[in-house]
Amino acid sequence: MAFENSKDIFRGSMSLISYETGGNIEKNRLLNENIPKNQIICNLIRLARHGTPLLKIGEGNPRIMGIAGVHGNELPPQIASLWLIDELIDCDINGTLYVIPFAIPYATMENSRRFKGIDMNRIASKGGYVSNNIVKAIKMLNIDAVADFHSTKPKSNPGRESVFCSKNPSYQSFEIARYITNATSSELIGYDHAGTLYTGALEDECNLAGIPAVTCEVVSENGEIDEGSPQRSYLQMISYLEYFKLI
Ligand SMILES: [Zn+2]
Repeated sequence: MAFENSKDIFRGSMSLISYETGGNIEKNRLLNENIPKNQIICNLIRLARHGTPLLKIGEGNPRIMGIAGVHGNELPPQIASLWLIDELIDCDINGTLYVIPFAIPYATMENSRRFKGIDMNRIASKGGYVSNNIVKAIKMLNIDAVADFHSTKPKSNPGRESVFCSKNPSYQSFEIARYITNATSSELIGYDHAGTLYTGALEDECNLAGIPAVTCEVVSENGEIDEGSPQRSYLQMISYLEYFKLI
């Protein structure tokens, strides 16, 4: 896996993981019209042309990660992650937050669920794919917990605002989901064991590796931004941070 530090910016620093995923996310017109453009976000967008950008904010423990854009056509969490960066970049937080605002910039640019024809949230267990590179980075960075933010179109699976989790082998996955669902309008969808439904989801691969993880969903049509959906995704992100007392 390629993992390279770039420049230090403000209180954060940026890196690139996975070089084959680069794309110009500004070509996604709807996304581009709805994101804040400060210096850091402009730098992230520029970096995303070359691969998957990773932003680090803060220092010390706990060390948690938030991810958006594993499905490139799910715009609300990608917008919300940039709001979060915009909000936190100049703040003191109690620990380290790693944010991947667009996991696959090329798929975001194309407003596509898949990348090279593959659903990257079904293949995180296999080497050579970006979702697996993200799991490797999570392990290398000694991340304590991961939240993967998605949106789901109405009447699909799950088709409702929710937080997926499992109790085994990482029980804290369930505790994080319970906290977020108590603090928001999201519903808890829990499984006894990670990877029960299918294999290769980023969340499951983390939980199976002993790193507690959840998948958060808000309702929005694919490739679109349903009213209030970035706000609901943002609230899920905030309560995830509050669980760990980062803010
Ligand atoms: Zn998704």
